[in-house]
Amino acid sequence: MDYEAYFADSLNQLHDEGRYRIFADLERRAGDFPSALRRDADGRAQDVEIWCSNDYLGMGQHPDVLAAMREALDRCGAGAGGTRNISGTNHYHVLLERELAELHEKAAALLFTSGYVANWTTLGTLASRLPDCVVFSDSLNHASMIEGIRHSKAEKRIFRHNDPAHLDELLAELPPERAKIVAFESVYSMDGDIAPIAEFCDVAERHGALTFLDEVHAVGMYGPHGAGVAERDGCMHRITVVQGTLAKAFGVLGGYIAGSRAMVDFIRSNASGFIFTTALPPALAAGALTSVRHLRRSSVEREAQQRQAALLKRRFAEAGLPVMPSDSHIVPLLVGDARLCKQASDELLADHGIYVQPINYPTVPRGTERLRFTPGPLHDDAAVERLVKAARRVWDHLNLKRAA
Ligand code: PLP
Repeated sequence: MDYEAYFADSLNQLHDEGRYRIFADLERRAGDFPSALRRDADGRAQDVEIWCSNDYLGMGQHPDVLAAMREALDRCGAGAGGTRNISGTNHYHVLLERELAELHEKAAALLFTSGYVANWTTLGTLASRLPDCVVFSDSLNHASMIEGIRHSKAEKRIFRHNDPAHLDELLAELPPERAKIVAFESVYSMDGDIAPIAEFCDVAERHGALTFLDEVHAVGMYGPHGAGVAERDGCMHRITVVQGTLAKAFGVLGGYIAGSRAMVDFIRSNASGFIFTTALPPALAAGALTSVRHLRRSSVEREAQQRQAALLKRRFAEAGLPVMPSDSHIVPLLVGDARLCKQASDELLADHGIYVQPINYPTVPRGTERLRFTPGPLHDDAAVERLVKAARRVWDHLNLKRAA
């Protein structure tokens, strides 16, 4: 086989469809987010404002987080030095797991090297080990959940997105004694809509199913202590497995689950993606610990984020731009075409110093390509006005569809 030709053909197809991904070469400036330096392919530098970061609250540059990371680096060195079982469990891991369990009001928590790994390995382990298990998965679940479920080889049923009645129908087809997992997210990051968590719990409880909730785009940002939408909605205690990330609102890296002591110990003892990989560096755990502690106490960042998200949605709408309905901090503008989406993103960057990555298939369905903005507490009102003005110009120049 001509392997190189195969790779090249496949990449050409992505280029032809306008779906080839080009990474922006950024240098984030600590203390000055959302400002960053961007270098083009020739190494020329440009000042840009980042509008699509998942460092939703700017905790990635919070002085306390940086100080904690520096201190841990000086005390413990760079790496963890091993898997959790073989010399890699650092005291910061223990403290962080305790903190995360408390955050979610669960008995225990377990760290993973990313949110992706947490989903993949927890769902993979639960669904493959629970005898004759069936997984019920929301149709818009993240790739990490889908891959974990697929890897488990368990039977899978897809329910319509955020539709408890459909879930109810599908669950009713199975005998009550059969093991069942209902897997869904709280905030869906591409549309910004939010799951009816309490209704899903009603249905799952009625059918004796375990619930697995991905709060990756909600932890730090929703609920009085930043535990997520389940905390905000008063139903945290009804969720069997809460999964989250330390890489978005908490600003660092890593993933986790929280739940009952036996469930967490079961995953700790059986999950390949937990057991056979090096533990997170202590400095990352220390930074995440400081970030979680800070956001448990402080609502200042959450409130400012919600305020700026509401402002941006309103200003886009007033400018006649096609802002998609969103119940959360996520603000998508519909373009509806992969090439135009890329072009709009390129023009915002080249002509206005505004960086927002185009979101194309397969991340979103074809025909719903969009620019996805994530305003945060560090995007001030002047930055919002600059963005709206620039977006208006780009929409005019490319003759893009306006709001209906
Ligand atoms: N779950 C959802 C819903 C996500 O959007 C992501 C994206 O990054 C993940 C899990 C993975 O989390 P992490 O970035 O920590 O690997």
